[in-house]
Amino acid sequence: MCGFAVYNVEMVNTDTPFLYTIKKSSRAKSLRITVKRGGEVVVTAPRFFSTERAEGFVAQKMEWIKNKLQYFNTLGPIPAYRLHNNKKDFQRYKKQAFDLACERLTHWNQFYNYKYNKVFIKNSMSRWGSCSKKGNLNFSYKIALLPPELADYVIVHELCHLGQFNHSKAFWELVGRSIPDYQVLRKRLR
Ligand SMILES: [Zn+2]
Repeated sequence: MCGFAVYNVEMVNTDTPFLYTIKKSSRAKSLRITVKRGGEVVVTAPRFFSTERAEGFVAQKMEWIKNKLQYFNTLGPIPAYRLHNNKKDFQRYKKQAFDLACERLTHWNQFYNYKYNKVFIKNSMSRWGSCSKKGNLNFSYKIALLPPELADYVIVHELCHLGQFNHSKAFWELVGRSIPDYQVLRKRLR
């Protein structure tokens, strides 16, 4: 059997109180702590480990956890485009994303003059965009939530695949013609 047993524990006896969750999993081989950017602390423990043992581990790693929490605090809130998607958001931003993609494609394509077929907006979490062999350009609805310079990078990237259907040096050169700092933007998107 696999699956989780979940225990919520409140850590109060420190100067930085936080909540953490102990997840017992039949698949876990050892104790592991994850601190997420939103401040969530999760301890994953093998099922046969006692809750006390997991709590002891947290106590041991207190400094490390606090440092992580403080670091994430300095980063500020998570940008909307990093949050998980849902159907509602897709419905809400689909049109906006479509209009943006069409407008920016028209703008950037003045310099490239490629022929593209259709533009689709997808409910995609894993990728920002893609280009099909048929010349269709697909974008995640989340481009509507990106800062303009990042949205432009995504749009130019897919547009340039019409010229180079790969990630070769020639492809990046095409991108660089419109977006000289594409390397910086690419890192920010990850
Ligand atoms: Zn690509």
